[in-house]
Amino acid sequence: MLLGLSKIIDCPGGVVPFETSLDLSQMEFGGSYPLPEPVHAEGSVRNTAGVLVMTGELTTRLHGECDRCTKPFERELSISLEAVLVTKLENEDYDDPWTFELDGDQADLDDILTTAVVLNMDSKLLCSEDCLGLCARCGKDLNEGPCECKKELDPRLAVLQQFLNK
Ligand SMILES: [Zn+2]
Ligand SMILES: [Zn+2]
Repeated sequence: MLLGLSKIIDCPGGVVPFETSLDLSQMEFGGSYPLPEPVHAEGSVRNTAGVLVMTGELTTRLHGECDRCTKPFERELSISLEAVLVTKLENEDYDDPWTFELDGDQADLDDILTTAVVLNMDSKLLCSEDCLGLCARCGKDLNEGPCECKKELDPRLAVLQQFLNK
């Protein structure tokens, strides 16, 4: 979707709201497709003292298999968006992923929102930030409680213990 900004480009204080949804079901991430549901985006672009600032919120549900405990999961994903829109990218802007060039007097929302999602995806898909994962020895899901295994010894201590036992 292209968002027309001609009304506010030269009008400090002007605001253009937007609401759209984005289909990222084909976006591959680490071998899976974690965003099968539409991504809903809502926000506005405001001309703040001559600078076009886009703010908003993206929400969807993340579907995946946890990288730590291997369980399939679904959870809410919400991303807050803050980007600067410029009529022409200057050299230093190329280093800033949150600065976008307008297409004439229009903002390419799909492009901006897709970038926001990609930049916000964690490098691992986790069922929750504090997932405890599986025991490396017995494979028990530690989210369900501790396992019977003894605590893994620090390998340096293990060597020391072997030495002392001799
Ligand atoms: Zn997990
Ligand atoms: Zn264990």
